Amino acid sequence: MRRKLVIANWKMNGHRSMVDQLLAGLQTRLSELSVQVVICPPAVYLDQAQALLKGSPISLGAQNASEHVTGAYTGEISAQMLREFGCDYVLLGHSERRSLYGESDAVVAQKTLAALKERLTPVLCVGESDAERASGKTEQVVSRQLSAAIEAVGVEAFSDIVVAYEPVWAIGTGNTATPEQAQAVHYHIRQQIASLSEKIAADLTLLYGGSVNADNAAELFAMPDIDGGLIGGASLDEQAFTAICNAAG
Ligand code: PEP
Repeated sequence: MRRKLVIANWKMNGHRSMVDQLLAGLQTRLSELSVQVVICPPAVYLDQAQALLKGSPISLGAQNASEHVTGAYTGEISAQMLREFGCDYVLLGHSERRSLYGESDAVVAQKTLAALKERLTPVLCVGESDAERASGKTEQVVSRQLSAAIEAVGVEAFSDIVVAYEPVWAIGTGNTATPEQAQAVHYHIRQQIASLSEKIAADLTLLYGGSVNADNAAELFAMPDIDGGLIGGASLDEQAFTAICNAAG
């Protein structure tokens, strides 16, 4: 179902007392939510976050999941394990996973399938690099990343998937895409899905991520095909993240 959604990606940041403080603060500030909010802390804090968010409208998500169900995969965490720790969402194919840990389109597609089997909502991240944009390949790259997932799970499964457009050049750089640049790619993504199913495309929740902050969130979220945001750096700041959530509401 298409909905307003803001997701916090804490990445590899935080410690026990910060998790306590930030989640307590956010629960107070976001008590009257008109937007769905999801927090993705580092995996070791999921247990703590699950306990703190009990009874809260804020949902819990993970930053990654294995494509495998169980077995000899040292260091990996399965979708089933994430479910057991209260996760409803999981980020998949984040550009840092793709570029730093070599996750291919095919692996991200298998992860998407594994997450869906455990009834987690995959947040499928797609986006082009600086060089790809400069050479006019933005739509081609995003379509390729999306097609790999569509081939693995089928377009119907996109009724249970959120897509996040995150241009790599905008992540953690302060160089946000303009609302028009972001809207153009969001429109392209929705059209790609619409070419297979207009109904699924109309219902698809599409997030923008890349240096969203309290000052630029409202104009990005006002674009017709942007349903909310995937927020990195600014999600660690209680005040800024609250402002971003309110901008989406
Ligand atoms: C991200 O890592 O998903 C992200 C969007 O980061 P930032 O908001 O810091 O650019």
